[in-house]
Amino acid sequence: MPFSADSVVVALERNMWKNATTQNKNNPSRQAENQTTNPVPVAVNWHCEPHCNYSCFFCYAPFVEQQRKPRLTIVEGYAVLESMKDAGIEKVNFVGGEPMLHPHIKHWIKHAKALNLTTSIVSNGTRMSSEFLEEMSPYLDWLGLSIDASTDVLHAEMGRGLRGEIKKGVSNHLERSKLIIENAKKFGYGIKLNTVVCSVNQSDDMEELVRWIAPDRWKIFQVLTIKGENDHMPSYFSVQDNVFQDYIVRHQHALSDTPSIQVVPESNEQMLGTYAMMDAQSYVYTNQNGRYEYSKEPVTVVGFSEAWSTVSQGFSNNAFEERGGTWNWDKENSATLSLPMVDTEAGE
Ligand code: SF4
Repeated sequence: MPFSADSVVVALERNMWKNATTQNKNNPSRQAENQTTNPVPVAVNWHCEPHCNYSCFFCYAPFVEQQRKPRLTIVEGYAVLESMKDAGIEKVNFVGGEPMLHPHIKHWIKHAKALNLTTSIVSNGTRMSSEFLEEMSPYLDWLGLSIDASTDVLHAEMGRGLRGEIKKGVSNHLERSKLIIENAKKFGYGIKLNTVVCSVNQSDDMEELVRWIAPDRWKIFQVLTIKGENDHMPSYFSVQDNVFQDYIVRHQHALSDTPSIQVVPESNEQMLGTYAMMDAQSYVYTNQNGRYEYSKEPVTVVGFSEAWSTVSQGFSNNAFEERGGTWNWDKENSATLSLPMVDTEAGE
């Protein structure tokens, strides 16, 4: 068992949690009903850590309120993962804020893998030491890194860097990320690369960098405004639909000779209603109406299926499939992925 805390206390806490969720878990017909009428998604982005040490100007995961609340205990996190597994989730993507700032992140990734979930993390690279990557390689299937631009000058303009750096008008994000990628290559990680396109980087040429990173999957997001989260973002950061499309077409064409790199564009429309998310307190939520709609109770109280049933109308499995939400993420059982491989972060 991966528990490092006193086993008696852990067992007691686990029993308390299980008792608290009996209304769902001890009622198979209720759970089956939920799963029939409100099918759960196959993948969930768990925004497990609300704090972040970066200051991206477009950030739509600032979680200011959540930062004032206590973190889940290690045991609560285990129980949340177990409830997700029971509900039929196949893949958990640990995101933030910055997930690497969470004190239990390694334990939770290991527990998820012990439950036979596909594991993924999207990080700004914080604390991604060679030691971390080596230790976690048996447990972490996919390493997602957010790199928005081919130069750190552009990253500085986007706020993509440590707060101290951005205050000085600089960023060393790209240089740090390159070191992480080199180390990740050594340990055979599947790498996802995430890029947010806004007015600052809309004309950037990422071809050379993406070829060097050689990600399995490059997700390109059109910067998105979420009411109450990042609507303070200066309007000039937005990127017009046609300009976003031009960025996509340009890079798809440039990389057309490298089919091993899957380029996955996500416009604002494609992002809405196609993400199943859970916050650091284990409330599940969706974003179909351009704002976050949260479950009435957290997973720690009612279990995943019950919590999800209160927000599932804000999620479309069909639209999720259409935007390529299900992809070949099962490294162990895949016949088409060749390992080891390398790629490079917020979404699937
Ligand atoms: S690294 Fe991610 S969570 Fe942190 S400020 Fe940037 S976009 Fe937001």
